[in-house]
Amino acid sequence: MATEKVIEAVYGPPAPHWVGDGFPVRGYFSAIPGGMRRLSPFLLLDYAQPFEFEPTDNERRGVGPHPHRGFETVTIAFQGAVAHHDSMGNSGVIHPGDVQWMTAGSGILHREYHDAAFARKGGNFQMAQIWVNLPAAHKMTEPAYQAITADTMGVVELPKGRVTVIAGEYRGVKGPARTFSPINMFEIRLQAGGSAELPTPEAWNAALLVMAGKVSINGRETKENDFVLFKRQGEGINVKATSDAQLLLLSGEPIDEPVANYGPFVMNTPAEIEQAIHDFRAGKFGHLDE
Ligand code: MN
Repeated sequence: MATEKVIEAVYGPPAPHWVGDGFPVRGYFSAIPGGMRRLSPFLLLDYAQPFEFEPTDNERRGVGPHPHRGFETVTIAFQGAVAHHDSMGNSGVIHPGDVQWMTAGSGILHREYHDAAFARKGGNFQMAQIWVNLPAAHKMTEPAYQAITADTMGVVELPKGRVTVIAGEYRGVKGPARTFSPINMFEIRLQAGGSAELPTPEAWNAALLVMAGKVSINGRETKENDFVLFKRQGEGINVKATSDAQLLLLSGEPIDEPVANYGPFVMNTPAEIEQAIHDFRAGKFGHLDE
């Protein structure tokens, strides 16, 4: 068996903040040294743990039109549903188990609201949004959109659990997401007593979010909402659940390039950030109604 990856630190959940009025998220990367530069190619992880929303007639619970440039936004719905519209004319609803993989590239406007049917009914809402950096050569790529439905995910059944492959590959099963750099993004569900081995290349950055359950990770006990950050050293990640558990694995080959960021723009240089702000103000990201 591969040498176990060394755990750098286990972080408890940072205080939640609201993104618009629809997403009570914990911004895990804000709590780790190095912030958005530490876990390249991943720039941000906003996790909304299960939260009960009251029914409402408000069809705009969430965030209105805003821009992005230079990276990808990946939205995973676990419970509840998110409606999405963008300035390219794309729209859709992200239902539980679905993933929306949006390549902002050269620039896009989008809005992210609770799906109207879900908002009217109310209920439990759980989601994650991950920002994935683009290599410099692809930052100004044409904006694109992958609506990845639950039935197209790669699934590996385990004796007491399952690995859902969103991106990358696990035991020969590939995930549906197209990516610009090598990434493994898996959702892992284990029953009490279940375990999983998650081999990860030594050159890759890696982290695990424990969304539910009590799990031992490379021998270290963790609990719900813990975030486990690995050093690159070692290759083996071994997870053992002592209660029913749900985890998110983010791992990938680092993009070894400078990061310049300002709000919704992530580029390589301050001059490119200035250009992004200029282009956004000049209306080059298109138009999108509230
Ligand atoms: Mn956004």
